[in-house]
Amino acid sequence: MNPMTGRIFNIQRFSIHDGPGVRTTVFMKGCNLKCRWCHNPESQERENQIMFYEHKCKDCGACRQLCSRMFTGECINCGRCAEICPYEARELCGRDITADELMSEIKKDMIFYQTSGGGVTFSGGEPLLQSKFLFEMLKKCREEGIHTAIETAANVSAEIFERAAELVDFVICDVKCIDEELHRQGTEVSNRQILANVSALIKSGREHLLRMPLIPGFNETQVDAVAEFAGESRLELMPYHAIGTGKYSALQREYDENEFFVPQKEFMEQITQKYDNVFYDK
Ligand code: SF4
Ligand code: SF4
Repeated sequence: MNPMTGRIFNIQRFSIHDGPGVRTTVFMKGCNLKCRWCHNPESQERENQIMFYEHKCKDCGACRQLCSRMFTGECINCGRCAEICPYEARELCGRDITADELMSEIKKDMIFYQTSGGGVTFSGGEPLLQSKFLFEMLKKCREEGIHTAIETAANVSAEIFERAAELVDFVICDVKCIDEELHRQGTEVSNRQILANVSALIKSGREHLLRMPLIPGFNETQVDAVAEFAGESRLELMPYHAIGTGKYSALQREYDENEFFVPQKEFMEQITQKYDNVFYDK
């Protein structure tokens, strides 16, 4: 029987923003939201993708000699052109990894987890879309005594969400807005199931953190509603930034840089001062 695999697009070691202590963050590929401001657009598609950074290309022709599929629209994302590009202008985003291979990667930093109270965080994309693989990883980590967290948008069935919450030590959950129509406009999906899952999480008493991406031009009018929904849960505001926009052109996608705005520090201070449980990383 073939070993179970998951599809990831990055493993980031020594992360300090995705849960307690020093962590390894595993970015899983594929998401069922299409947030218009997403700063990791390479996470959205489940399929592997070739990213092409035009500014790095020296037009040496090596990739064109290797394969003509890039001109015919028949690229199968095999990644060979990325391997041979001498200037790293082409990059294969996404790879399959077995649970044992991923455990070996995670265990490299065991000493840092133990000394800092850290562990591993499964992020994305949406880790709960690969629930079988994720559950396997959570069980393995538990056997090894490694603290686990998931970072999720919660747009999955209650059954999957609850099972994950049982297996993981810490849940970081996004709430983008309360207004359903606005949520559809920003992400292409309803937030009904998301809010039901988050609501159940809050009631469960399991350790969690809510996060709201604060995107002026989309949801700046929704902070009060989200803070009210959060109740006594901690709510971290994640201010919009435009760092990932170059990735859109690398994926041959359009991105309107004037649609959203980076929030002013004063605005962030003003909001967070209003609530005891709302904060942002200064
Ligand atoms: S191999 Fe790399 S540098 Fe050369 S033409 Fe292709 S993308 Fe450009
Ligand atoms: S990823 Fe593979 S199929 Fe696609 S252009 Fe590169 S070599 Fe050709």
